[in-house]
Amino acid sequence: MKKIEELRTLLERIDGRGYKAYKDIEGAYRNKEGFYLFIDHVQGDPFASPSKIRIRIPINKTGFPKELFKNKVRRIAFEDLVARKVKSVIFSLKRVRGTGKSGLIHIDSGNQEVLERTACKVTEEWIEVRIYIGLPAEGRKILSKEAERIFFDQIPRIVEDSLFWESHDKRYARRFVECIENQEYIRERLKEKAIVAFIKDGSILPRESGISQLPLRSAVPFKSPPSLRVKFDLLNPVDGKKEIIGMGIPKGVTLIVGGGYHGKSTLLQALERGVYPHIPGDGREYVVTLPTAVKIKAEDGRRIEKVDISPFINNLPKGIDTRSFSTENASGSTSQAANIMEAIEIGSELLLLDEDTSATNFMIRDVRMQQLVRKENEPITPFIDRVRELYNRLGISTILVMGGCGDYFDVADTVIMMKEYLSYDVTSEAKEITKRYPNRRIKETEELEKWDISRIPIKEGFDPHRRHKIKIDAKDIDKILYGNEIIDLKWIDQIVDLSQTRAIGMAIYLCSKRFMDNKRPLREILKEFERLIDKEGLDILDPHYKYERHPGSFSRPRIFEIAAAINRLRSARFRIL
Ligand code: ADP
Ligand code: MG
Repeated sequence: MKKIEELRTLLERIDGRGYKAYKDIEGAYRNKEGFYLFIDHVQGDPFASPSKIRIRIPINKTGFPKELFKNKVRRIAFEDLVARKVKSVIFSLKRVRGTGKSGLIHIDSGNQEVLERTACKVTEEWIEVRIYIGLPAEGRKILSKEAERIFFDQIPRIVEDSLFWESHDKRYARRFVECIENQEYIRERLKEKAIVAFIKDGSILPRESGISQLPLRSAVPFKSPPSLRVKFDLLNPVDGKKEIIGMGIPKGVTLIVGGGYHGKSTLLQALERGVYPHIPGDGREYVVTLPTAVKIKAEDGRRIEKVDISPFINNLPKGIDTRSFSTENASGSTSQAANIMEAIEIGSELLLLDEDTSATNFMIRDVRMQQLVRKENEPITPFIDRVRELYNRLGISTILVMGGCGDYFDVADTVIMMKEYLSYDVTSEAKEITKRYPNRRIKETEELEKWDISRIPIKEGFDPHRRHKIKIDAKDIDKILYGNEIIDLKWIDQIVDLSQTRAIGMAIYLCSKRFMDNKRPLREILKEFERLIDKEGLDILDPHYKYERHPGSFSRPRIFEIAAAINRLRSARFRIL
């Protein structure tokens, strides 16, 4: 272990030399107070991805009250909070000069959602933040003076202004952690109240724009219809109140109806993201959905590999087998069927569908079409004929945005109408209408004997090598480079952070190495993965984690999104029992 002063000496020695000489500063440094600076990895040149450093401080020197991280949920919230604070301090610093990424300082802090992430880690003994810095150079010549400014002015500033309790807005910090804990507390209690989602009165659902997740200003706040109103006791009081009130969406089949542009999709999108907690001030911080909720879309062009879509699709032309359906280029309806079956395979208890992003022929076949195109000539059993069965037999609820087709009144338990961004319970009117205008539509199918869906991934299909090197990278929030393949996640709505995408790529690799044995089904593999992360933390996604180094920037994905990526990996192969 070197003393921090040695870093200064080292830097002075390499001043003006070629960039490679920066390698000499890799290592661990310690100051008198027991603070550590780890320079884990030095970038190859000023344009390469920035160097990885960690700063570690004994927790008892920071003054942070223990209650801020006394349980797992609080710890995740607290780590997230500290990373955000580091980010804001970095923002206030003046970047030192140099070429390329010189002087850049970065931490992978969160967006509107609060996720378990590797950017900050708190243990019983210490707190550590994982940062990237661009080591400064002029062309390829080392600028030691600028590097010194980073290490001896800016890093200490970051430490002082974010890693000590004294530098935090204490009320905000407490409120932040308590708010996240409240959301998870509600999530755990949804089932007790027989609901699948909760939306607090006063929530702000719409976003600023199609490319921003910030709340829309001057939005109409959410208000629950009295008949669907539920109350939750809170673990931590909010504004002095110990309970909150909002709409509970009951288990079963729920329709969201209403005129175009009245806020239906906005409501559903808030529910999609309600699987994650949100920061205070987001507007959706008390929109809480079952953790296994999965958004289902039509996604023509996607690959499908040995999925049993026969509950929805049968008798395809040329006698194609739909109990083990594979294609490199799915249609709207086959892709939507596969998306549902894959969500069930991993254990979803709530499907979220929007007419805007569904295949019409998958959703409905009305009485006139039934007359014209006979059942024998139509491979599709529309969702309307399975949605009740999904609930009655499998306990899987559905929330469906459907402004265009009243046939669904027959199969709905609850009908919510959006009107000028306000919600109304119109269940009894809808039921009344089904009596007044009986539907002559014929249900086109019998209930299935069994619905067990299980596929075994074949390990060989998950090799991430490219020219003898492991190549896994998130090119964008919806694009993973995996070996020779690109995984396209553009249709997956519940990935909310690029660092989740990064984690998904590594998770696939880890699952293939550790758990794929050509015997275990996908669902079991992902359960094992979940257990492993719960125990070891996300750092383990870094293949070199055991050497105690900067793990990179990961945030936790759900197993549904990992499965979604696996299902879209074009080299993946499965076996059915
Ligand atoms: P629908 O699905 O019913 O056609 P959308 O949910 O797409 O409607 O909403 C239409 C527009 O109204 C969007 O621009 C959305 O941001 C906006 N909007 C939705 N909810 C609200 C609200 N509560 N207050 C203000 N504007 C809203
Ligand atoms: Mg819509």
